[in-house]
Amino acid sequence: MRLLLTTSQGIEDIAGREVASLMERLGVPFRVEEKPLGVEGRLLLEVGEAYYIDKKGRKRELSIATYLNENSRLLHRVILEIASERFEGIGEDKPETALKRIKEFVSSLPVERFVKVSESFAVRPFRKGEHKITSVDIARTVGEAIFERLSRFGSPKVNLDHPAVIFRAELIGEVFFLGIDTTGDSSLHKRPWRVYDHPAHLKASIANALIELAEPDGGLFVDPFCGSGTILIELALRGYNGKIIGVEKYRKHLRGAKMNALSAGVLDKIEFIHGDATKLSQYIESVDFAVSNLPYGLKIGRKSMIPGLYMDFFSELSKVLEKRGVFITTEKKAIEKAITENGFKIKHHRLIGHGGLMVHTYVIE
Ligand code: SAM
Repeated sequence: MRLLLTTSQGIEDIAGREVASLMERLGVPFRVEEKPLGVEGRLLLEVGEAYYIDKKGRKRELSIATYLNENSRLLHRVILEIASERFEGIGEDKPETALKRIKEFVSSLPVERFVKVSESFAVRPFRKGEHKITSVDIARTVGEAIFERLSRFGSPKVNLDHPAVIFRAELIGEVFFLGIDTTGDSSLHKRPWRVYDHPAHLKASIANALIELAEPDGGLFVDPFCGSGTILIELALRGYNGKIIGVEKYRKHLRGAKMNALSAGVLDKIEFIHGDATKLSQYIESVDFAVSNLPYGLKIGRKSMIPGLYMDFFSELSKVLEKRGVFITTEKKAIEKAITENGFKIKHHRLIGHGGLMVHTYVIE
């Protein structure tokens, strides 16, 4: 079986390691490829069959897709791959030509092996890059091709609002993917625990990538700009056995973070402090790991305040940080100046796609 997995751009390697460790736990033969056909934010998992023994002692097949949907913290979607194809030059094609190529290709695929004709279906599209066609064009064309193909075997039913089966058709640059979306309409990064929606909240998948980069070992872990608590809640849900603290300046967000933690069932695992990160040493004498999504000044506050805020915060952090810090921001110049002028070393840097931007991520010691 081949599963196309989606995640944020820039964390494919971390998601790949998570998938590998989940497959090792199942003991199935597998191969994970990052960025199949060069597409960022995608992984391809080739995996053998897995079984479990049910209560009556019968051997049953275990759905790897369901297992990943239930256990992954870094993936967004788990898609059963029907086909992956490169369409050379599709970006320059006239709309009729591009759609004809897609339709002919989809018509040739044995989609009937993946769905029962009696099940209602819908096509959900995704398009990225320069094309003369829209995602709506792709959904309509792929939908027609699937409908015509399934009509050979019975009377297919389309249900755009509540389909039993979701086909996902993606055109990313020149690469076209078609598969069955086993995740459903809501991406896995939208966590069910989120009852308070912070205007600049971090995707839960990226929060987990930052936690992986910090390599916390049970020592005191703090998010000094914790907002709605995403990083801390995800850490607590992983069963972290060290102390977890969040600091947030605005009462409204702090209340929201507590509501989220309560909804996630981890309120008793996190200490929330109403305070100012630039006065961190007033609340915490020493901390092993500091991980945060810093204010960018785009959605929150005035942008001109950012360099001063970062300088004051990293100066304060230098008094208390024992092991490692991981920070994500769009403000490259301001953070690099604040990190280096306060005696920290940048151990790792990478760009991560978040909210349509490529955001700078630093591991410092
Ligand atoms: N990661 C968070 C989440 O997922 O909800 C979002 C963090 S948001 C980018 C930055 C947060 O820092 C905002 O909630 C903002 O109110 C807070 N903040 C700004 N200045 C602060 C300061 N001096 N001390 C503590 N928190 C501050």
